[in-house]
Amino acid sequence: MSLEELQITAVNGVGEESAKLLAGLGLHTVTDLLEHFPFRYEDYKLRNIVEAAHEERVTISGSVQSEASLRYYGKKKNRLTFRLLSEGVLLTVTFFNRAFLKSKLGPGSEVTVTGKWDAHRLTLTGSELKFGVVEREGDVEPVYHGSGKLTSKALQKMIRSALKQFASEIDEPLPEGIRRRYKLMSKQETIQHLHHPTDPESVKQARRRYVYEELLLFQLRMQAFKQANRNQQGGDSLPVSNEEMATFTQTLPFELTTAQKRSIADIANDIRSPLRMNRLLQGDVGSGKTAVAAACMYGVVRAGAQAALMAPTEILAEQHARSLEEWFAPLGLTVELLAGSVKGKKREERLSRLVQGKIDIVVGTHALIQDDVEFRRLGLVITDEQHRFGVEQRRVLRNKGEHPDVLFMTATPIPRTLAISVFGDMDVSVLDELPAGRKPIETYWARPDMLERVLDFVENELRGGRQAYVICPLIEESDKLDVQNAIDFHEMLASHYEPDFHVGLMHGRLHPTEKDVVMSKFATNEFQVLVSTTVVEVGVNVPNATVMMIYDADRFGLAQLHQLRGRVGRGEAQSYCILLAHPRSEVGKERMRIMTETTDGFVLSERDLELRGPGDFFGAKQSGLPDFKLADVVHDYRTLEVARNDAEALIHSPALYEEREYALLRRHLERAGAFEGTKLD
Ligand code: ADP
Ligand code: MG
Repeated sequence: MSLEELQITAVNGVGEESAKLLAGLGLHTVTDLLEHFPFRYEDYKLRNIVEAAHEERVTISGSVQSEASLRYYGKKKNRLTFRLLSEGVLLTVTFFNRAFLKSKLGPGSEVTVTGKWDAHRLTLTGSELKFGVVEREGDVEPVYHGSGKLTSKALQKMIRSALKQFASEIDEPLPEGIRRRYKLMSKQETIQHLHHPTDPESVKQARRRYVYEELLLFQLRMQAFKQANRNQQGGDSLPVSNEEMATFTQTLPFELTTAQKRSIADIANDIRSPLRMNRLLQGDVGSGKTAVAAACMYGVVRAGAQAALMAPTEILAEQHARSLEEWFAPLGLTVELLAGSVKGKKREERLSRLVQGKIDIVVGTHALIQDDVEFRRLGLVITDEQHRFGVEQRRVLRNKGEHPDVLFMTATPIPRTLAISVFGDMDVSVLDELPAGRKPIETYWARPDMLERVLDFVENELRGGRQAYVICPLIEESDKLDVQNAIDFHEMLASHYEPDFHVGLMHGRLHPTEKDVVMSKFATNEFQVLVSTTVVEVGVNVPNATVMMIYDADRFGLAQLHQLRGRVGRGEAQSYCILLAHPRSEVGKERMRIMTETTDGFVLSERDLELRGPGDFFGAKQSGLPDFKLADVVHDYRTLEVARNDAEALIHSPALYEEREYALLRRHLERAGAFEGTKLD
């Protein structure tokens, strides 16, 4: 049996009791225990304090120069302090909650202390004290994350025992060729060194090897999914024609950008090929993804199939339905909405026309592809603003029913460093160019006490025939309070601007049909101002709106602010984004500054990633990223790129499927379910 399957109780000294505690840390098997790595190393090598850096952990020895003084505070807490002379330096040593040491320490005692050095205050905050001058064997000691009874020391003992017993049975998943190419140590050495490094270089090398392995396995899974998906048959090869698509794009009131043309060509190629498309269309807000989607849907319909467009919100679905209707009706295509607001008889009637093929294009929310929705011949599914879904969810969608070609569209510019992790299983087209004539949105950050002046500024725009969004205070996570806020704010603005201008109100608690009414009144300029909660965040398109005012802007993340700002600047007029905020935290202030400095979504997302870290970037659960033990997709980006290329080569190499050396990699992929449907071509 492999160590991955062997119960943790097989380790000498680990009984049922300990096993329960270990399970609390997520450790169940011998491998789990062996790969529970220290988060730092305590260095017990004796040092000269003069050489220690500020905040460094060091071990020094010396003689005590004073009585230890003890101070109690709080209920049971105390602090013990004494003076120590070490290699000619007189310094202060502090210990917390070690009152028992007081009676043992006196002037003249020789001690060895380990702790964190504060070079400014000449103080060492101790974590360990030994009497006498103690030079220890092994120098470096691993420190583990434990919990409660399961201390770092206890874990250290168990892991030592596991290593003694099982180190020789640790399997080597990496083939010889790869290890030689990158000069990687063996897996056995790696595990040994990570727990008990012989010197700083050995930890570094061990970490390098482990990170590479983690990232290679991750990328292999990605590539295997990609391969499996491509090989799935049933992908229609629809003969979409470039000429047909051109008849549509010529009816648009604008010339397509080069990036749009290129993306349409990529997508059309995928649709024509018998392989199933699995493509991401990435383009910043306002880059014109809808027109790309429309051209492809048009091509699919002309080739004899149907297309579905799915959006994350009802508002967006309705807007898409409206603009597609406008573009396609004159060309004789039938577009229908299937959303929550379409119920009962109407829904049934649409469903039956859909299955008869009397509807060419259906638009809805992500719930659209449900079991009761049948098509005559579904050729293409497009999902808008798909960044909210992880790798797993995408796989589920692709495996649904009819195996149509799938195009994912996202406006969240994914930092390069994350894109290959999160979208490594997809082909990507990028709209890296905005339509000509767009002026960058001017962004200002104002304090809330400047509200009067801001309202005057907005009024000026309104007098010029323009429209404005006002996103109102976000007080709590609670929807109820937000709604109340929107209502209050709407009242205030209405009394300020009416009767000259009309102010609409939009929030999440409105009935879908009411939302529709409000939105279309804003779209047709019956409302000049729209007070709203963040329901307008994604996708909404009213090109005549030139002002986006966001209250309490510091409560929003950068990605969301960028999305909101993207609601304006969609026409040729100069647009403005005004952030009303009084941020308390440094990060909040930094976010406001970044917003005023750049309108480039990619730059913004890189900065956001720096501020937040990869886990928070999407919200950990949605990112689809696995929990790595040591690897960090941002920090280890270079290794990730190497691993991705190696994984791609491996997936296409017969050796992976045949040779013994690769058996462990194969087993890993089988366990992950990544081999389903994979065949060598
Ligand atoms: P997004 O990529 O954010 O979804 P949209 O598809 O909503 O952007 O397009 C934003 C606006 O730009 C729309 O009003 C659309 O009609 C317009 N648009 C799209 N492509 C072009 C183009 N090539 N030239 C000018 N305007 C365009
Ligand atoms: Mg859009």
